Amino acid sequence: AEAGRAPHVAMLVTPGMGHLIPLAELAKRLAARHGATATLITFASTASATQRAFLASLPPAIASLSLPPVDLSDLPPDAAIETLMSEECARVVPALTGVLSGLKETTRLVAFVADLFGADSFDAAAAAGVARRCLFFPTNLHVLTLILHLPELDVSMPGEFRDLAEPVRLPGCVPIPGPDILSPLQDKSNPCYRWMVHHGRRYRDAEAILVNSFDAVEPDVARVLRAPQPGRPPVYNIGPLIKTDAVETDNEPRAPCLDWLDRQPPRSVIFVSFGSGGSLPAEQMRELALGLEQSGQRFLWVVRSPSDEGAVNANYYDAESKRDPLPYLPEGFVERTKEVGLLVPSWAPQIKVLAHEATGGFLVHCGWNSVLESLVHGVPMVAWPLFAEQRQNAVMLSEGVGAAIRVPDTKRKEEIAAAVREVMAGQGKGAEVRAKVAELQKAAAEGLREGGAATTALDEVVHKWIGGGDK
Ligand code: UDP
Repeated sequence: AEAGRAPHVAMLVTPGMGHLIPLAELAKRLAARHGATATLITFASTASATQRAFLASLPPAIASLSLPPVDLSDLPPDAAIETLMSEECARVVPALTGVLSGLKETTRLVAFVADLFGADSFDAAAAAGVARRCLFFPTNLHVLTLILHLPELDVSMPGEFRDLAEPVRLPGCVPIPGPDILSPLQDKSNPCYRWMVHHGRRYRDAEAILVNSFDAVEPDVARVLRAPQPGRPPVYNIGPLIKTDAVETDNEPRAPCLDWLDRQPPRSVIFVSFGSGGSLPAEQMRELALGLEQSGQRFLWVVRSPSDEGAVNANYYDAESKRDPLPYLPEGFVERTKEVGLLVPSWAPQIKVLAHEATGGFLVHCGWNSVLESLVHGVPMVAWPLFAEQRQNAVMLSEGVGAAIRVPDTKRKEEIAAAVREVMAGQGKGAEVRAKVAELQKAAAEGLREGGAATTALDEVVHKWIGGGDK
């Protein structure tokens, strides 16, 4: 009888649309290809309207449920987002154990998947008797390698990353200058540093690590991780998993920015966006406006009010920006650029924008979902990293594979204009970046086809779940 029921997979989603979207996509793939059903388990703290609408739009094979609220009131008000997510995951273990035990009774629960801050929840899966425990890593192999090396780096490397004279060199990885290493690792006295070291240790408890990346974008480290290594779970590149938009297009009116794009020449517009929660300090916002103007390129900019009055990631738990951003722009900017530029407050249908033929570049914060979406649609990037692992991604994209040009940290308008112009129309570096991105777009599509690397990797994982293959 067991074999006749659809295999069920439970997935714990740590806060942030950037974590929810790729996990939901994984669930869709498991449903479509393997006849599986899934439950996305979310936190009460992230029950935003954006998230609710997204969950409601998923196919019937994918259920969702929200865990009871977790009390974090004893944490300091300035606790890092990585600390909040890690604490929330650790404290929810008893409630999650109950949820998983319940799912075990009502479904044929074959596996539990946690994401990057959720490895402590493996304890809940173990307590509930779920045999297979996997980690879904929503960024790339470079970041994964760093986290897996943290327990040993913590012992061997005294001092702060930002003070290192030499870049950090890890097997197969582009050397990362100390200041570009993950932001939660930049201050060892902050509890979020300890948490990341802890995760590096706990990742080893996973049966497998599924990564939302593909070999062509980081070939050397992909080769290193493909070789089995005792004490390290097997690593599977199953990406790029990006949001497939079909459902929401049916009943939502078309966004006006897409109509605007229809009126622009092919590949003439640079799309400017900083992810679901990113915003700039007021000064950088002004330079960006002037830089875009000076570049002479057409632009579509998702503007948010500046970050000075709050944390850079203040919007992370809730995508809707709180204040009107327009008063923060330079005097006369909107009027002067009205023929070539369009400003969209807070949120744009990013994938549709990237898929539009008028879009020729993406000035991006280097959040990994955005990077994958850009590559899938063959859009070359201008890298403007903000927080989390974004600086590291910017190094890997600009110094490593060559899919982006990075704006210098000084962020002067001339530098911004030059980077934008180069990526959109430059004949030197820009042309190379555009050619590389076209190549990566092809590689990404090939991997996802029947017999492609990503498809085969996921098949192998699922075979172990339901075929009872070796653990
Ligand atoms: N996104 C969007 N419209 C926006 C901003 C973001 O659709 O105006 C989507 C984007 O397509 C991506 C996700 O939100 O799927 C952002 O994830 P990413 O990993 O790039 O950055 P994060 O939000 O985690 O910083």
